[in-house]
Amino acid sequence: MTSTIEPSKTKYFGAHVSAAGGVDQAPIRAHQIGANAFALFTKNQRQWAAKPLDIETIKAFKANCARLGFSHHHILPHDSYLINLGAPEADKLAKSRAAFIDEMQRCRQLGLSLLNFHPGSHLKQISESECLRHIAQSINLAHQAVPDVVAVIENTAGQGSNLGWRFEQLAEIIEQVDDQSRVGVCLDTCHTFAAGYDLRTKADCEQTFALFERIVGMHYLRAMHINDSKSPLGSRVDRHHSLGQGEIGWTCFEYIAQDSRFNGIPLILETINPDIWAQEIQTLRDYHHQALSV
Ligand SMILES: [Zn+2]
Ligand SMILES: [Zn+2]
Repeated sequence: MTSTIEPSKTKYFGAHVSAAGGVDQAPIRAHQIGANAFALFTKNQRQWAAKPLDIETIKAFKANCARLGFSHHHILPHDSYLINLGAPEADKLAKSRAAFIDEMQRCRQLGLSLLNFHPGSHLKQISESECLRHIAQSINLAHQAVPDVVAVIENTAGQGSNLGWRFEQLAEIIEQVDDQSRVGVCLDTCHTFAAGYDLRTKADCEQTFALFERIVGMHYLRAMHINDSKSPLGSRVDRHHSLGQGEIGWTCFEYIAQDSRFNGIPLILETINPDIWAQEIQTLRDYHHQALSV
């Protein structure tokens, strides 16, 4: 039986593009680099407050996505860097939760179904398990406030007191989420590697994703960030690099492009040279097509 899905459309490659001039510009920029997925900020990621999205911008965003063939399944908005859903102090936690709910509402207004976020930090003031509990409770509160949108937890490099670098920590958050149909994970290859999970050879990839399957479950994988790493294995330092130019190397990205477990989800570049994003996407797509023609 032949598949009804066009093979080239089973893999969704893109990059985190700029939303300068309005979120409606993001799909145009993604289209220009040959992407069929993209990530964006729906507000300034370094500020707490943002003016609400206006109706015209929302309309233009939806129209551009439809015209250029971007589905909400393959668009991965990222929340503000200021938000700490595991914050130890009550006032900071409340502020973060309110801002996160606002981010979710913006996603919903734009017709988007995923929201990618960094789990949170304990700042050495509370225990790891207490912080993970705060994060899970923050997700529960956001779910109660906003329907439909899936909270997509990004694994971290484990820099400073950031949690979510070990797969067990991701599982511990998910365990405490009431609506598990609306929680997922975004694995960042650079963060995974910096956290100590090797990805340099095919065997390393097999082992790392088998571990993820066992501890978290592949069905929770809703997105990936495809980045090489400037910092070595287990360094717990988050420094992205262009594909093939860092410590991880092309083998891992070829593996992801060719393995069907990564079909259907946004695979987003956050590599350091936007001038070669189009090239990086084309190379990933070539690897994907190679696997199909075997
Ligand atoms: Zn990332
Ligand atoms: Zn990073």
